[in-house]
Amino acid sequence: MLFSELGLSPEILRAIEEQGYSQPTPIQEKAIPLVLSNRDLLAAAQTGTGKTAAFMLPILERLKKYANTSVSPAMHPLRALVLSPTRELADQIGVNVKTYTKYLPLRATTVFGGVNMDPQTQELRRGVEILIATPGRLLDHIQQKTIQLNKVEVLVLDEGDRMLDMGFIQDIRKIMGMLPKERQTLLFSATFAPEIKRLASDFMKSPQTVEVARQNATNDQVEQIVYSVDAFKKRNLLSHLIKSRDMSQVIVFCKTKLSADRLARELQRDGLQAEAIHGDKAQGARLETLAAFKEGKLRVLVATDVAARGLDVTELPYVVNFELPNAPEDYVHRIGRTGRAGAKGVAISLMSPEETRQHESIEKLTKLTLTPQIVDGFRPSWLAPRPQERPAPQASAVAKPEASALAGAEGVKKPLNSRRSRKTKREVPALLLPPRYKVEIIR
Ligand code: AMP
Repeated sequence: MLFSELGLSPEILRAIEEQGYSQPTPIQEKAIPLVLSNRDLLAAAQTGTGKTAAFMLPILERLKKYANTSVSPAMHPLRALVLSPTRELADQIGVNVKTYTKYLPLRATTVFGGVNMDPQTQELRRGVEILIATPGRLLDHIQQKTIQLNKVEVLVLDEGDRMLDMGFIQDIRKIMGMLPKERQTLLFSATFAPEIKRLASDFMKSPQTVEVARQNATNDQVEQIVYSVDAFKKRNLLSHLIKSRDMSQVIVFCKTKLSADRLARELQRDGLQAEAIHGDKAQGARLETLAAFKEGKLRVLVATDVAARGLDVTELPYVVNFELPNAPEDYVHRIGRTGRAGAKGVAISLMSPEETRQHESIEKLTKLTLTPQIVDGFRPSWLAPRPQERPAPQASAVAKPEASALAGAEGVKKPLNSRRSRKTKREVPALLLPPRYKVEIIR
């Protein structure tokens, strides 16, 4: 299918052509006609599927009739509101909207917390047709009466599941209550969790449902690799991988702000250009770090889940999970940073014995078998030593050869457990291997 078959105006087609979009993505093919027909829409689309254009292009088509170059604020009332869970995602959508409106005199702006309100206030007072906002900052502007919602025709809730995860439900309900009843509502979410369905039934009119990928599915374009490694060797392994594989642009995920900061410092000591990005950093510094990363000036971005949400780097080839997330959905979101819009990507997870529970939950959710592998020189200490590494046989050593560990480990249901392994390692190291453990030496 071609974009020109979707019923979009020449001004919009020209702008997306300049962006290099040759064909609509599956979500765009399905969602654009529905949004153009004024239907409410509940869309499940992973990040990287082109969902921003899927809602924004038909919105622009709808608002085209209002496009004007008047300087009067009264001529630019707010018509479309996009709510985003994070500043980075809001900023990202804003950047996309600017490119899509290149040939249409429609005004768009982005507001989010953590920065001075004054420039935002001035811009809102000049009038905007499209506003991208995080819920908290929008409520601040509403309270200060810098923005009126009475002419809003379209509301988009982007990454709805994450909005709920981040505790925005009250803010969202409050904002929805202030919007005109006659409006179109588009709800985008990676999953249709029960709370999302409840929100849809409370605020939407017979929404059409569009799903482009299996719920919680990972992208086929992303090669997923799990390396087993001792926790204390993870940083060395990471530096080794970045250097030996010549990774020029990589996002590394940590679970906490503290570990992200620490890791960035350690990587710097290893001679790598690395910076951390998380919620405790000032907004200006976050945007600066992101810009440097996107421009390829920063090699490694160490991020927490929330900070990286909505982060969009064209053709990002690598994502590394330095620590496996507790919520398996976050794994899907994390690796969705690579392999976007059809490009190929590699997601590497470094798994220590303490993380087998998270590994299992990820496999369960994604319905994939992610067999751990071993990088040469980073052999986990809880595994049986390789034959050439094994000390000369002694009376007490009963280690089985590795091959028999692999073949003969059936029935060992409980995989690696660091506490148990410490206790039992010396007597039965071979049995500590999970049944489907593949010992593959990667150089
Ligand atoms: P999104 O899922 O909206 O975050 O989009 C992910 C990336 O895909 C962004 O960099 C978009 O610019 C890009 N993109 C969106 N639609 C298309 C398309 N039809 N063809 C190529 N790239 C696209």
